[in-house]
Amino acid sequence: MGTWLEGKPVADKIRDQVKNEVALCQQTFGKVPGLVGILVGDNPASQSYLRMKEKACQSLGLYGQVLYLAANTARDQLKAKIEDLNNEDKVDGILVQLPLPKGFAAHEVISWINPEKDVDGIHPYSLGLLLQNLPGLRACTPLGVLELIKSAGVGIEGKDVVVIGRSLIVGKPLAAMITNENGTVTICHSKTKNLAQVAARADILIAAMGKPGFIGPEFVKEGALVIDVGSNAVSDKAVVRELFGDDPKREKEIQDKGFTWAGDVQPRVIDKAGWLTPSPGGVGPLTIAMLMRNTLEAFKGRHHF
Ligand code: NAP
Repeated sequence: MGTWLEGKPVADKIRDQVKNEVALCQQTFGKVPGLVGILVGDNPASQSYLRMKEKACQSLGLYGQVLYLAANTARDQLKAKIEDLNNEDKVDGILVQLPLPKGFAAHEVISWINPEKDVDGIHPYSLGLLLQNLPGLRACTPLGVLELIKSAGVGIEGKDVVVIGRSLIVGKPLAAMITNENGTVTICHSKTKNLAQVAARADILIAAMGKPGFIGPEFVKEGALVIDVGSNAVSDKAVVRELFGDDPKREKEIQDKGFTWAGDVQPRVIDKAGWLTPSPGGVGPLTIAMLMRNTLEAFKGRHHF
């Protein structure tokens, strides 16, 4: 039986460090790091993610604001908004909450952000710095995954690491970061053959697929460190029962909210893994903590602090 690797204690430490440094920014410069999130449209999941980010800003003493724009906002209007924020001194971080409504090309919208304020780390310039292993703003979720691996006391150098998922926000930057840390990375995706065999070679297995409960024990090497990035809203009671057994709390959640959260990894993998992050409660808290840290870093970069 492995150890559950909870995200909250790791995230709390980072949040405390950020809070102290934010106070120092206030003392030194008379201002604090600022983050603006942009929501185009009214995707409920995006709204709730942005509310969490805004709350985190408030609790750590950062300036935080969400700009709500209608789904039918014109392309040029959105571009002008982002340009205003690029020029606004009190804003150090700009994040455009994805997915965007139909009609917007995410890569184009992200490219309008000044890379110095790209706290999501997905501007082409930021990704170029990452590939060159040069300092720069890095994507928050992969940064959080690295912190979780570190917190387990597991070194990355020389390890076989399998990342399942190749999105721009998680899988690809994460694979590059692990390469920079001298891990030997295999990136898997929906066209990968013999996924279970490939995954079961990993000392460190990271699932970022968006497929609830896809990863069972047959994907996992005995004693491996397993990070579950997946965060999926599941409403099918039978699926939930299959994953979590009889769990009255989850049944009630489905009744009240219409869904419960589940990761990509089956909880019973804990019996075979050395460590497993829960989902929810693993990577999620780290993603927000790293966003706060990135906003602080962007402030420090802009103020040569
Ligand atoms: P995404 O853009 O949909 O990418 C999913 C990736 O998984 C794709 O590369 C896809 O392969 C691969 N995949 C899907 N089905 C597969 C299969 N059967 N076998 C092998 N690979 C498969 O998703 P994402 O944005 O990276 O997010 C992934 C998950 O992480 C989601 O559950 C999301 O909610 C969660 N997430 C959590 C956080 C957090 O803070 N906790 C942050 C970001 C994302 P192809 O490229 O071939 O299609």
